[in-house]
Amino acid sequence: MSQDCAKQPPQSDWAALTPEQRDELLMRQALALAARAAAEDEVPVGALVVAGGRIVGRGWNQREAGRDATLHAEMIAIREACAALGGWRLPDATLYVTLEPCPMCAGAIINARIDRLVFGAADQKSGACGSVLDLCGKGLLNHTVAVAGGVLADEAAGLLKDFFGRKR
Ligand SMILES: [Zn+2]
Repeated sequence: MSQDCAKQPPQSDWAALTPEQRDELLMRQALALAARAAAEDEVPVGALVVAGGRIVGRGWNQREAGRDATLHAEMIAIREACAALGGWRLPDATLYVTLEPCPMCAGAIINARIDRLVFGAADQKSGACGSVLDLCGKGLLNHTVAVAGGVLADEAAGLLKDFFGRKR
């Protein structure tokens, strides 16, 4: 399940990119993780955590395989990032996820003190970062997360649509 992200070299090539290009590049990697979930017959959601110019945590939805309601992509990525950085706080980290986080994952993002969240598709049914709830919003809880939604949203939504289309 876990990969040793801590040993990756810093991805200094990111420095040459604009913030928008960097977000897209990293969202593409999260989309690749979501595709991996789909290949494993899991609802396709992928996430990664970036800190200090490198990826320190990766996750894809593993609820079915793990028979565990908490194995959302974001939870796995946050757990791996905490292990890589050696603490529960992930300051100055950005979490990329292909789908707007649910209340559990938004809670974990806040609890880990993650600085910034970038998500792909909005989730009108259970999104907790602006759609149904806005847990990350300013001043609501003890930590505020800067949120950017809609990055490569069509690709993320497309993966989900294809997956549920096949299920029918
Ligand atoms: Zn979740």
